[in-house]
Amino acid sequence: MDKLDNFLQTLKQLPEDEQKIIQSKNIEELDAAEREHQEFQNSFVRGNCYLCHLPLTAFDISKSCLHWLLNPEGFKKRYFEFIYAHYSYFQIESYLRWVANQEIPLQNINALSQEDTKNKPIELTICYKSLEWSFSCSESDLQGHKASRYGQFSHYHFQMRIAEKPFINYTDFHIPFTEGDLFKLGIIRKNYPALRHVFPFGDGMKEALNAEPDKLLENMQLTTDENKSSFHLQTVVTTEPGKPISIDKIEAMIKESQKTRKPLAALAHKYINDASVKVMISPGESVPEIAKRTIRHR
Ligand SMILES: [Zn+2]
Ligand SMILES: [Zn+2]
Repeated sequence: MDKLDNFLQTLKQLPEDEQKIIQSKNIEELDAAEREHQEFQNSFVRGNCYLCHLPLTAFDISKSCLHWLLNPEGFKKRYFEFIYAHYSYFQIESYLRWVANQEIPLQNINALSQEDTKNKPIELTICYKSLEWSFSCSESDLQGHKASRYGQFSHYHFQMRIAEKPFINYTDFHIPFTEGDLFKLGIIRKNYPALRHVFPFGDGMKEALNAEPDKLLENMQLTTDENKSSFHLQTVVTTEPGKPISIDKIEAMIKESQKTRKPLAALAHKYINDASVKVMISPGESVPEIAKRTIRHR
């Protein structure tokens, strides 16, 4: 049993009143996150940084700040070191998730597991306008590259591209996790049913696709440009023998979809009741691809 399992065991065994205290603390924390996000948003739409209070386009070397990742004039690759000296992995990730969702919700954030790297502790790409940030942490990064000169400690790698051109490469930095980072990462990886790590206001495609499909469909709108879609929908209707679906119903369904811009998949249950309707939801065209990392063996 590791430290995290121990902690959870203790949590479970706490008397009820103490568990209640913890619950109310959690609510307090979520409230604080909501207030912080509000501050972030109010400043962001005015072009200002809620952390250092400078314009988002300003760079002051004496005030290390997360908004530097928006590439204000004067920001250089080597200054990234100041950012991670001040901010933990999860602070950086949350901030960039908030930024991405300012442009368009969900679709700018891709943390979906890839077939070939399913069990990687961290693999994430976030976009905002022409900026693209990616985080990567393999099992070997998490353990530390013991036989190597660099990165013997638990760390992650970071990549930043501006207009598709490399600005910071994965190989440039071995960024140490904080104690808090490692604790949260442990919770995420162990997938405890009772304990979940969330990114308030920072949901991306993975979180959306993990949510209740009905709710997700309910909130979808048709796009006129397929290249800008967040989701792909595939609807399969299987009728029972001898019970064909009337053309009228289908026409009415299409009409409602055109009028309300709701996808057919979201309306199918309303019009088709004597057939089975299956809807497959997958990421759409505009979701950024996970930025690959080529591991070099030396
Ligand atoms: Zn700032
Ligand atoms: Zn590494």
